[in-house]
Amino acid sequence: MSSIIQLLPDHVANQIAAGEVVQRPASVVKELLENSVDAGSTEIKLIVKDAGKTLIQVIDNGKGMSVTDARLCFERHATSKIRHAEDLFALHTKGFRGEALASIAAIAHVELKTRQEQDELGTHLVIEGSKFTSQDVAVLPRGTSFAVKNLFFNIPARRNFLKSDTVEFRHVIDEFERVAMAHHNIGFILYHNGSEMFNLPAGNQRQRIVNIFGGRTNEKLVPVKESTEIVEITGFVTKPEFAKKNKGEQFFFVNDRFIKSGYLHHAVMAAYEGLLKDGCQPGYYLYLDVPPNTIDINIHPTKTEIKFDDEHALYAILRSTIKHSLGQFNIAPVLDFDRDANLDTPYSYEGKEASIPMVEVDRNYNPFAAEDPVKSAASRSFSSSSSFSGVPAFKKDRQPSWESLYIVTSPAQEEIAEINFESEEVTGSLFNDSEVEQAVYKTYQIHKKYIVSPIKSGMVIIDQKRAHQRVLYEQFLKNITVQHAASQQLLFPLVLHYNQQELAIITDTKEALENTGFVFAEINNDHIVVNGLPVNVAESEVSILLEELLNDLQQEVPDSSFSQTDSIAKSMARSLAVKTGTQLTEKEQETMVNALFACKEPDVSPFNKPTFITISVEDLDKRFAI
Ligand code: ADP
Ligand code: MG
Repeated sequence: MSSIIQLLPDHVANQIAAGEVVQRPASVVKELLENSVDAGSTEIKLIVKDAGKTLIQVIDNGKGMSVTDARLCFERHATSKIRHAEDLFALHTKGFRGEALASIAAIAHVELKTRQEQDELGTHLVIEGSKFTSQDVAVLPRGTSFAVKNLFFNIPARRNFLKSDTVEFRHVIDEFERVAMAHHNIGFILYHNGSEMFNLPAGNQRQRIVNIFGGRTNEKLVPVKESTEIVEITGFVTKPEFAKKNKGEQFFFVNDRFIKSGYLHHAVMAAYEGLLKDGCQPGYYLYLDVPPNTIDINIHPTKTEIKFDDEHALYAILRSTIKHSLGQFNIAPVLDFDRDANLDTPYSYEGKEASIPMVEVDRNYNPFAAEDPVKSAASRSFSSSSSFSGVPAFKKDRQPSWESLYIVTSPAQEEIAEINFESEEVTGSLFNDSEVEQAVYKTYQIHKKYIVSPIKSGMVIIDQKRAHQRVLYEQFLKNITVQHAASQQLLFPLVLHYNQQELAIITDTKEALENTGFVFAEINNDHIVVNGLPVNVAESEVSILLEELLNDLQQEVPDSSFSQTDSIAKSMARSLAVKTGTQLTEKEQETMVNALFACKEPDVSPFNKPTFITISVEDLDKRFAI
């Protein structure tokens, strides 16, 4: 019998390898940027169209390639960076596998233009799906330009698998930022669909971070510096008071390579012990330099984990270095020399004692106390929509007739009760009984956490936080999708600072947020101006609310408008819901019960947790029977 095993043709092998190297446009961005860095460039320009789906072009002023190299670079395992296995342990370049370009050329249309300094003419070459289609001599500037077009043109399944432009572009920005942060001595520019998104001139570490994350970042940074035999640490951590619920800006670079490390993250968190508010995390931008032979760099091309020889020592050094820096910044103001004057405090502040800006948040703020927002929420949500609950009486009567949920006493209320119960069988059967007429008017709050009330079959216990989340969630969902909510005008507009990614999310969700009652006067390069707020949001809550919202949206990587709407409603409901530990007056408890059972799905919170449980008289009897 003849043999059945065959060697795969190169273009097929390359396509398979591409599956590992190139997952999405951002992977191409990373590989091309890293090649430009390795080529000794001082200026690198990234041009992206349609989040990289149509075009990713990287233009550098690095050392360029000869005619032969220009062709060779697309071969698999073709690299100028290592020659021997030992070279792996003395690696100073980003690439070394010689795989990236072969992979990219297998699944896209690639145009390469390159010229070395000493050559008069350069090479212009086109390769499509691993096949060279043209090669010319051309007059070119020094350096290299790779244009990668129509990614996955020959693998429709992969192309269809790509997420929305917003999501893919966010990944592109992530990679761009990581490479740019690791190389502050190189100038980087990013254009997306013709507009300049980043222009980062070469500068010091601090300037680079501030240029990427916005001017306000400067005041938050505490420098970190330590030099030992096994590691040299530089970079910054943020002051504890700027810690966020969101763990967005946390970066480790090891030998100028972005890495992720849960272990080192833990070391940083340990250094902040006792300094952070619950659930908050600091930002950090930490650069570790270790001897190349003490790490295992032979990692998967797309993975960012790394193995250290002596992880324990690194942990201890990192922790104590940061602890030391945090201790110092309070006492000695840290001077940073060549820093951009634009980033500094205004002139008139010079010499004056600077006070640390604090966000004033009243954590005990009780949204019921002021104007009974549940009530207004309930009436706003339900008053004008007959399709929602079909309750005409709610239209006339903005007062939440919560009693009607329990008993039917007068004909006027009968109508309300009846229709309210139609949506949820369980709700109806819970309260629809006149026998409990006397008892139901009582609600009790237990441990500032639960609301307990008698019902016909026994008792109901409601989780106040989850119940309120449900009420607010349905309200916001409705505002976003069906009707525009009213907003309260601010006397003094609020200016809030965000980084590019966060601003991109805000721009993306602007319409939905406006429907909830936000009014944005401006969405700028590094800040937004808020003119109006949803009626049940206090000014002091806005920054936390938006921070949590951005965090949630970042985590969720929303892909369709449905999930985005849903995420916004969920996030706002979670932020604004009355917390466990909040004392509620009897009236507030009643309003809550009323609003909950007027919901479409009263029995679960937006996060799918039960909002209430019932205990029947029989259950109680059984327990007493023992
Ligand atoms: P690796 O980076 O692992 O060596 P790549 O496939 O990314 O593999 O690149 C192959 C080779 O092409 C590199 O080793 C380098 O010699 C050359 N090359 C790639 N990009 C550039 C560039 N921008 N400037 C100069 N040479 C480049
Ligand atoms: Mg490379």
